[in-house]
Amino acid sequence: MFKKILIANRGEIACRVAATARRMAVRTVAVYSDADAHANHVRACDESVHLGGSAPKESYLRWEKILEAAKAKGAEAVHPGYGFLSENEEFAQACADAGLVFIGPPPSAIKAMGLKAESKQLMEKADVPLVPGYHGSDQNPELLQREADRIGYPVLIKASAGGGGKGMRIVEKKGDFAAALASCQREAINSFGDDAVLIEKYVQRPRHIEIQVFGDMHGNYVYLFERDCSVQRRHQKVLEEAPAPGMTEAMRRQMGEAAVAAARAVNYVGAGTVEFIVEQRDDGSMNFFFMEMNTRLQVEHPVTEAITGLDLVEWQLRVASGEPLPLKQEQLQIHGHAIEARICAENPDNNFLPATGTLHVYRKPQATAFQRSRVRIDDGVREGGVISPFYDSMIAKLIVHGATREEALARLDQALAQIHIVGVATNVQFLRGILRTDSFAQAKLDTALIERERAVLFDQEPLGLPLAAAASIAKTLLAERATASADPFSRRDGWQSHGIAARPFEFEFRGETKSAQLRYLHGGALALSVGDVSGPLEIGSFPTGEIELMFDGHRHTLNVYEDQSTAHVFAADGATRITAIDRLAHAGDTHAEGGRLTAPMPGKVVSFAVKAGDKVSRGQALAVMEAMKMEHTIAAPADGTVEELLFAPGDQVTEGAELLRLAA
Ligand code: ADP
Ligand code: ADP
Ligand code: MG
Repeated sequence: MFKKILIANRGEIACRVAATARRMAVRTVAVYSDADAHANHVRACDESVHLGGSAPKESYLRWEKILEAAKAKGAEAVHPGYGFLSENEEFAQACADAGLVFIGPPPSAIKAMGLKAESKQLMEKADVPLVPGYHGSDQNPELLQREADRIGYPVLIKASAGGGGKGMRIVEKKGDFAAALASCQREAINSFGDDAVLIEKYVQRPRHIEIQVFGDMHGNYVYLFERDCSVQRRHQKVLEEAPAPGMTEAMRRQMGEAAVAAARAVNYVGAGTVEFIVEQRDDGSMNFFFMEMNTRLQVEHPVTEAITGLDLVEWQLRVASGEPLPLKQEQLQIHGHAIEARICAENPDNNFLPATGTLHVYRKPQATAFQRSRVRIDDGVREGGVISPFYDSMIAKLIVHGATREEALARLDQALAQIHIVGVATNVQFLRGILRTDSFAQAKLDTALIERERAVLFDQEPLGLPLAAAASIAKTLLAERATASADPFSRRDGWQSHGIAARPFEFEFRGETKSAQLRYLHGGALALSVGDVSGPLEIGSFPTGEIELMFDGHRHTLNVYEDQSTAHVFAADGATRITAIDRLAHAGDTHAEGGRLTAPMPGKVVSFAVKAGDKVSRGQALAVMEAMKMEHTIAAPADGTVEELLFAPGDQVTEGAELLRLAA
């Protein structure tokens, strides 16, 4: 076993790898960027080396610097995590050339699986089932059109070098093909520097089911069963679970053996994932087709750890140091059911726009580490930390395990309710919404689940005005009680010596101004009128800081955090926020930006859809920006005429930078 390894990554995955290394008494070296100087992953390792600036290309992608660091610190091996350099065959080769072990597959296997089109040609030879499609090297647009016609619509155009859902275009009919092809190629060249595409039949009611495989240097292979990752937004995973609902023993074995055949075909070593797209036929049968192989540890590997009771990073380290696979296929078993939720800094109601900011509050459920624990949290952040625009938007992964899917689902909902984040927008409430949809609850999974359940997933308000207002008022009253002076006449809470007094409150709630009235009754009792609810209000507090509130006939235990005048309210059923309006404060700060269209975050301008002089209408796409590994469309806030474009495609822009000028 290695004595010391360098972890060439950051965030939760670097912390994850460090935890196993520590358990195995392997010393660790962290690398970090300027933005990560105080990050958890640096603390999680025994030693650390600064790489450079915050942008990945100035730090986590600088592989000469990483290799130097490994040499300088005496590390014997490099764990690449996922993302960054993990699927870079040149880096894997450079490690070998520098006498370091790359904890991953051989460079030749990364290369073979790196391009979707080439890997499909290989898989065809290995008899792994493929989606009907075209994956040839001839990229003549007329030929591509003919191939699409032959395959039959709808088809999916993919960037051969692609990843992260980028460049993918669904084409419904012949007439749309040429335009979709051009737009896929544009995005592919921008994102991957390669505009080669492949075309696949668009599978109906598709499920994404992937198989975890492992190989060692002695020619042994096993599959560690499947994960269902069908719940996706923008072709990116949101919830992942294992085992896949509805999977039969026969199909599991077939898929497992196909995945092992895929790995064997490229002499794979270490952890890898073979992704399949599964077609669900009307008669209930399922067909699976190879999609791609990810030659690294996957974000969602913890669900496999939960159902197998194994530590996959431990397996990676053992295999990389030359040991045989710890277990044989017959020794592997599935226990119970596990689900992972990706907690991301993003705004689901605004097309999942990534969010940045400081984690003023970051509370999470009690978790126990690693395999088969009931609630596990993998994260790389802490309260007070910053979600910066430089890296992807995942804050944490929450993984639960239960005896059955039903139990795991209930536990996930419970655990999500205990995640309190203030300071950065997150998808936590959205995730809870998904769990409650009929589709998810009844395991009717396919990649269109979120789209299909739109009506109950977006723009939801889980708590409602009365409870939100009562919570905010309770927080205010409790704070006043705590600081109240003994002199009742100096109290500002409306108490009056002659009895009943009313105290008005005004709030901003979901973009509207709302009022509430609190009355102080004889004997210290309270009554509250807000919205269509009027009645007694009882409040109390627990030593833990939770607020107990009785209103409208229901008892609630709440956590309320104040961020200036906004109360962030977390209840069992969900969370919301409400802002108190102080009528004495200055009114009139407007946030109108006039005709300015600004970058919502630092990033790169990908393209402009308009030019100076164009007339545009409200909501029309004007420009595409890329930040935090996602593309964002900037839309016109109102009708107008484009006066001037202020940047060119490819330019880096800072947050708030004006992108273009629009005249009314
Ligand atoms: P997995 O397939 O392991 O579930 P993803 O496909 O979402 O996970 O991505 C794995 C990692 O690859 C991400 O965490 C990120 O670091 C990187 N990644 C994802 N999307 C992109 C992208 N569009 N460009 C570059 N890297 C990406
Ligand atoms: P990436 O490298 O971006 O992860 P994949 O080829 O793995 O690209 O596909 C990403 C997602 O796109 C899949 O998980 C699935 O939801 C969808 N998808 C891919 N191929 C097909 C297909 N042929 N038919 C229907 N959906 C597909
Ligand atoms: Mg994929």
